[in-house]
Amino acid sequence: MINPARALSRPTGVTAAILAAAATGLVLGAAPATAAPAAGFPVPPLTEVAAAGTEGLDPLLALAYTMAEQEAHAQGVPMSINSGYRTPEEQRAMWEDGLRTYGTPEETRRWVLPPEESTHVTGRAVDIAPREGAAWMEANGNRWGLCRTFDNEWWHFELATLPGTGCPARVPDAAHR
Ligand SMILES: [Zn+2]
Repeated sequence: MINPARALSRPTGVTAAILAAAATGLVLGAAPATAAPAAGFPVPPLTEVAAAGTEGLDPLLALAYTMAEQEAHAQGVPMSINSGYRTPEEQRAMWEDGLRTYGTPEETRRWVLPPEESTHVTGRAVDIAPREGAAWMEANGNRWGLCRTFDNEWWHFELATLPGTGCPARVPDAAHR
């Protein structure tokens, strides 16, 4: 595993090219960097600067989100990351705060998971704002492999499918993982 923070500060051309190729519907890793975009699939320009809030995320998620956000902004849709990578300590504090709010671990798990289970701690989730941007992502994010995963969290997205293919069915909430 490469260091996410290091990879994010300067996305490599190879990684970006793989993701761009994937966004055209080609098989991951099978396309040369010079492959022409497949017809019918809009491919956003490659970025040299990751979107704000992507620090610490899995590099592929950071790039996928960055490309999606660029396309959203190009269409005039507001979008930003409300919460991306979280340290185990930050997630622990949220979990304990949730326990105070919801009373039981069972109810708390519907909204926040302990650090050893949260995909934010592994850098594999982004919470998106505002609602308009999240709705756009829900409708379009699969171009980059991004999917809403929980019925009760319109803001939470993960890399959950191959770019250009359909998203898997959502689960009711985080407790159903
Ligand atoms: Zn989330």
